[in-house]
Amino acid sequence: MSKIKIAELFYSIQGEGRYMGVPSVFLRTFGCNFTCQGFGMPRGELSDEREAIAERIVEFKDYNELPLVSTGCDSYASWDPRFKDLSPLLEVDAIVERIMEILPHGEWRDEHLVITGGEPLLGWQKQYPDLLEHPKMKGLKEITFETNGTMRLTKDFKHYLGEWTAEHWNREITFSVSAKLPCSGEPWKDAIKPERVCEYEAAGTAYLKFVIATEEDLKDAERAVEEFRAGGFTGPVYIMPVGGVERVYNLNNRAVAEMAMRKGWRYSDRLQVPLFKNEWGT
Ligand code: SF4
Repeated sequence: MSKIKIAELFYSIQGEGRYMGVPSVFLRTFGCNFTCQGFGMPRGELSDEREAIAERIVEFKDYNELPLVSTGCDSYASWDPRFKDLSPLLEVDAIVERIMEILPHGEWRDEHLVITGGEPLLGWQKQYPDLLEHPKMKGLKEITFETNGTMRLTKDFKHYLGEWTAEHWNREITFSVSAKLPCSGEPWKDAIKPERVCEYEAAGTAYLKFVIATEEDLKDAERAVEEFRAGGFTGPVYIMPVGGVERVYNLNNRAVAEMAMRKGWRYSDRLQVPLFKNEWGT
């Protein structure tokens, strides 16, 4: 039976993007190809918050005990190998049982599944069909992959997604592509991949979502959108305020909303910050 290494599995309100406000099961897989140490830092500097936490790793017995960070990747424990023991490798049956326990009616109704990370398209494309074909997953209608937009879809997985959506008229696959701008600390050439995002657009609905802190980030987003458009991408663009903690989020959410209005792009909130303080499991 297939196994997936799961950093978190929880039920919450989707706080970002197209499904903002929709009750959703979040399956956070382990592993990422980036580190995004630049978030929340002055341009060119990298966060060392994660290093300080890793040095105290023995103090933490559970994912939920880990400190939140205000700089760098806010889901660092879902990919940094030093935290890997906090993410169990679970059989598909066990994952589905857990999902049934956390759904309010013990079955899929109008809830949506978010497969996130880490980078969910990095290592688990082969296992997802086993998960989605489980008899108790048949009522699921909408899935979002929250991806950084750099991973190719395998031929088999692309084919499977086509079959999954064709099986019922009301099924939908969405790729929420959070392409990483220079404020993440990741190099442009590794992070901006129009050909990948066009591939997602061919396999479902895809949109771009950029994390913005400053006017400089907005300029980078404009340049990236030009590249994505030149590569053939036609989907919508969202911008979202930086801020895994409320203090940082409050500093720039309105400014980012005003930028979105100016550009004619969509504003994405991060509702999990004001609603739940971005605690683990939200
Ligand atoms: S791509 Fe996402 S999960 Fe990976 S390091 Fe960057 S912010 Fe974190």
